[in-house]
Formats: sequence, C-alpha cells, structure tokens
Amino acid sequence: MKQNITSLEISIKDLTKRYGKIYALDTVSLDIKAGEFLTLLGPSGSGKTTLLMAIAGFNRPDSGSIKFANQEMILTPPHKREVGMVFQNYALFPHMSVFENIGFPLKLRKAPNDQIKEKVHDALKTVQLSDYANRKIDQLSGGQRQRVALARAFVFGPRILLMDEPLSALDKKLREQMQIELKQLHRKLGVTTVYVTHDQREALTMSDRIAVINEGKIEQLGTPKEIYNSPNSSFVADFIGESSFLQLNRKGDDLYFSSEKIITNKKLNKNKEWAMVIRPERLSIVNKSYRKNSSNIHFSGEISELVFQGETALALVKLMEGNFLSVRLSTKSSDDFNNLKTGNKIQLCMNRKDVIIIPH
Ligand code: ADP
Ligand code: MG
Repeated sequence: MKQNITSLEISIKDLTKRYGKIYALDTVSLDIKAGEFLTLLGPSGSGKTTLLMAIAGFNRPDSGSIKFANQEMILTPPHKREVGMVFQNYALFPHMSVFENIGFPLKLRKAPNDQIKEKVHDALKTVQLSDYANRKIDQLSGGQRQRVALARAFVFGPRILLMDEPLSALDKKLREQMQIELKQLHRKLGVTTVYVTHDQREALTMSDRIAVINEGKIEQLGTPKEIYNSPNSSFVADFIGESSFLQLNRKGDDLYFSSEKIITNKKLNKNKEWAMVIRPERLSIVNKSYRKNSSNIHFSGEISELVFQGETALALVKLMEGNFLSVRLSTKSSDDFNNLKTGNKIQLCMNRKDVIIIPH
C-alpha cells in the first residue's frame, strides 16, 4: 500500500451532549485502540451518530474530552482532525467522475496532479474499481457507489476512518458481501476504524470490539464473543442474538428455576432480582435413551410452534412452569425438526457452562 496510513488511538472521556432535555450522549467514556475496528451498536436514537460526529468534530459536546493519541481534539476543527468519513447515502458529487470524486480530498489538500493520479489509481485498485475511473456516479450501482465513497474516505491517508451505517442502503446479499470486503480492507489498511450500525449481525461479523450503546450510554464493551456469550444486561442480551428469559428464585447463595438449581454464587448481589438468558442454539431436545446428569440443566415442556426457516428451524416450547423457550433446531433430514409435531411432549437440556445470569 502506498497510502501511508498511521493508525491512532482514540480516548473518549465523560462525553456529554444534550439536545434540550435529551442526553444524546451521557458521560460516555471509551478507549479505542490504534488499528482497531470498533463498532458502535445500538437502536435508532441511541446516540451513535452524535458520538461519531463528535469524534469527527462536526458537533461540539457540552463537556468531556476526545483525545487522538493523547492530544486533546475537542477544540480542533474537523478539517484538522484528518479523519475519513463514509455515510449511508454516499454523499458523492453526482456531476463529477469516479476519479474526480476520489481525488477531491487530495485536491483540497493541494496535492500535485501526478500524486493525485497515483493515489487515486491505488485507491481504485484497492476497492476493485480500476476500470471505472471515468464513469459518472449515476452510472454506478449502489455497491459501486459505496466503494467510491470508501476510496474517497481513505485516499488521503486519514488517521481514523469513521463510517455511519454505510451499508444500510444496500440489499441483504450485497450488504453481506460488502461486510467481508470492508473487513478485508480494514486488515489491509490497518487504520483505526469506528463503525456505526444498528444491525447486530453486522456488528458481530465485522468488529474487533463492539460498544453497545443505549440512550446515550455505553451499556457494554467487548469482543463479539464476549458480548454474545456474556451480556451483562437484559438490554444487551435482547438486542444481540435471540434470547429467552427465565426469572430465577434465590435461596441463600443459590439461584433456582422451579426445582432446578441453576447456579451457586457467593458473590450474588442479594438486593437484586436475577434472570437467566437462554440462547436458542444452546438448547437440545433429548431422546429417550438420554440420562439426566449434573453437567446439564433440564427442562420439560410441549412444542407449541414449529417454524421452518431454511438452514435451521425454530421451535417454541411451552415449559411445564408456563414460560416459553425458543429452541434452534437443525433441519438435516435425520434430525429433530423432521420428527417433531406441535403438541409433542419433550425434554430439553443445556450445558451449565452456557448459563448466562443477568440482574433483572
Ligand atoms: P442514532 O444515530 O443512534 O440513531 P443520534 O445520535 O442521531 O442517534 O440521536 C441521539 C438522540 O439525539 C436522539 O434522541 C435524537 O433525536 C437526538 N438528536 C440528534 N441530533 C439532534 C439535533 N440536531 N437536534 C435535536 N436532537 C437531536
Ligand atoms: Mg444515526
């Protein structure tokens, strides 16, 4: 790569931004590592764009600090922050060619023409659009436009790349293909990237770490595996992946569901109510020869709904206790799904290691 990118760490401390009574950002603190792909994931209105724009310098927080490599940026205007940006709606110049669009940030920086030519051609190669330099923007597909926007964002060697829902205008197939391409591009460039999405699967697919944001606060920060396997609140458990929730009863240091002991934990906060989060794929339907054992947790119930979804199926199981659990099933011809009917009485098990407990 000739694009000469040096990645940078970002340190955000106690950032607050209010619009009237609404806290778009509420004392947000977040350290983003140099070269990391970090995703801000949250529902619409949770403050993702506000945080991204604060990093870019397009909005001014009421209080708090944003440092790039230990240097305070809060008063630095956007054009001096050297960040590349990609938006959902591309924000390309329709009357300019692909070449002119990508070359624009270099022209703005008064780069000599031969250098512009070389860098734009490098960038075009990186986004696999080498044959499209002279096309007009309206002669491109959505995916190609987004590649141009991407090339324009990194052609000048930004120290940080910020992307706000860049793929949400694309259809599902193309979106999934572009997710992989963006991930590969990030690996190639190594530039610190902050990516915004409301799509949990996209976040799991692309990120080194995910910051789950809700009502202007970061609820949880972790790798995709940590966030999925150990959500620390019902919001995170519900927002990422599919979950069933079972309210638990506490007796001393033990938590029970009905007569089944779920966990013993001496450090349990006794003033809180606790619930168990169950991921549908962690449950299995047991067959007649199965023997109950202490490494598993067991449930009994009846199938109330079966839904074929192609590569997998979903069973909704009504437990004896009245609660419902979703169970993910394989659709291979020999497997459970093809031998089950609604109304069947079944036994379920899951490994104790997959137990997730959250305050509720
Ligand atoms: P997201 O990108 O997660 O959808 P935003 O950062 O755009 O969320 O918005 C966070 C909150 O701040 C929302 O309640 C939104 O209505 C409010 N907000 C954002 N920008 C403005 C603005 N310019 N004026 C007033 N309220 C705003
Ligand atoms: Mg937004």
